[in-house]
Amino acid sequence: MGLDTQRLRAETPGCRAELVHFNNAGASLMPQPVIEAVEHHWAEEIMSGGYEAAERHAGQLQATYGAVARLVGGASDEVSFFDNATRAWQAAFFAMDWQSGDQLITGQSEYNSNMIAFRHAEKRLGIEVVLAPDTPDGIVDVAALEGLITARTRLIAISHMPTNDGLINPAREIGQLARRHGVPFLLDACQSVGQMPIDVKALGCTMLSATGRKYLRGPRGTGFLWVDGNALDALRPHALDIQSAQWTDVDRFQMAAGSRRFELWERNVATQLGLGAACQYALEIGLENIWDHVRGLAAGMRGMLAELPGMTVQDRGVEKSGIVTFFHESVPAEVLVAALRDEFGINTSVSNTQLTRRALRARGVTSLVRASVHAYNTPEEIERLGASLMALADGKRNYRELNAGQPV
Ligand SMILES: *Cc1c(COP(=O)(O)O)cnc(C)c1O
Repeated sequence: MGLDTQRLRAETPGCRAELVHFNNAGASLMPQPVIEAVEHHWAEEIMSGGYEAAERHAGQLQATYGAVARLVGGASDEVSFFDNATRAWQAAFFAMDWQSGDQLITGQSEYNSNMIAFRHAEKRLGIEVVLAPDTPDGIVDVAALEGLITARTRLIAISHMPTNDGLINPAREIGQLARRHGVPFLLDACQSVGQMPIDVKALGCTMLSATGRKYLRGPRGTGFLWVDGNALDALRPHALDIQSAQWTDVDRFQMAAGSRRFELWERNVATQLGLGAACQYALEIGLENIWDHVRGLAAGMRGMLAELPGMTVQDRGVEKSGIVTFFHESVPAEVLVAALRDEFGINTSVSNTQLTRRALRARGVTSLVRASVHAYNTPEEIERLGASLMALADGKRNYRELNAGQPV
């Protein structure tokens, strides 16, 4: 069974506007069931009180854990809810029993915030961060990574799909070798959850973190962590409160069962319900269906861009994701992105992170345009992007001028 793009568009209010949304790696457009879950609860809090509304929806709130678990292939008590993916990731990372001299291995295209946390941990905890090399394709070199494992290696942490490149890191192979060597594997799946089928068991993950607002199409300010139930005992949450623990006696407390021990009590209930609805929605459409459509569109976009004079597609990798990055030989990415948005109604984003800069400095390029496609995007929208880019490169100012003589 394939994907019904027209149905997806009809269920996405943002698609009804004259808008082309290619910033799904930033935050995608929410579908109706997610919007309704958030808005209904928000309205109930306003009318009947926050605690009372939460109590009435306690069952639904509990069900959000099950929805996340089904999405990633884990158990419901292995999931914890956060206000973003960075906090989820850090809850796992800083719960490890780090000792001075411990090593961790990561990749060259690791997410910037994770890199900062690693350097912070080097200073604060005396651990050592080892960078595995890339293959010529730009993905983590699995054989080289294996060669870096020593008796001091305590963690392998990888970003599945980097935020600023279409490449996909070989998570499954890395997970397998991590398991073979008995080293925990922390996968940052921010861009892959909701975009492709994810199975923590098949990937060999010990811990997996992701965000709600990107390919999952949940509300902003949501994220989650999955931790293998068998790995819990080796972890020590760095913050405990009345959610993550129970005060049992004046001088005693007991940690909550399962992954709930990583959470704090207060949360945005409406957005957590929205995240649950987003998981449910993705599962109903089918992750295979989404993944097929996204890959097809992204390949089509790369092909289109490669035909445009002066344009270079930058994505590395063997298998590629829905994230497409490119640059023009003379028009800076910042100018293209602003004009695409303001004059042509096309949302893309600028990628100019530290890592992008490092990868591109040699070519004299400092930033890229990132256009990331989702299941509700269409080939017609890709054509419109191509025509708009060419108009911009030719000095035309807006969509109206581009279509001069034709009805807009
Ligand atoms: C967006 C992103 C993050 C951070 O997610 P937040 O929800 O913003 O904290 C981490 N890793 C990758 C690869 C990302 O793309």
